[in-house]
Amino acid sequence: MRGRIPETTLTEIRDRANIVEIVGAHVGLKRVGRNQVGLCPFHAEKSPSFTVNDERGIFHCFGCGAGGNVFTFLMKMENATFPRSSSVWRAATASRSRSAARTIRRSAGAKRSFV
Ligand SMILES: [Zn+2]
Repeated sequence: MRGRIPETTLTEIRDRANIVEIVGAHVGLKRVGRNQVGLCPFHAEKSPSFTVNDERGIFHCFGCGAGGNVFTFLMKMENATFPRSSSVWRAATASRSRSAARTIRRSAGAKRSFV
């Protein structure tokens, strides 16, 4: 999933953005062992097979095979559940977790302030 965004920027944002915080704004997560698990937002399921690994900053669903990093998640969420919203930032701001929105905004501004 590397392409339009330069890898250094990706690494930088990935280091600062807490994937559990961001995914947790959309999905109810529960810690199981070293992972967080919850119901997958990308397919209908009754038992949680959606797993987030915050150490590696990745998610994976054993049910539908969706997986990737925090960017993949936000892009997929935008496609899956926010068809009328053109912006993942706005979606995050409107969600319950204001801290997640702050994290995203911080991440977006990170390059300018830290480089
Ligand atoms: Zn799934």
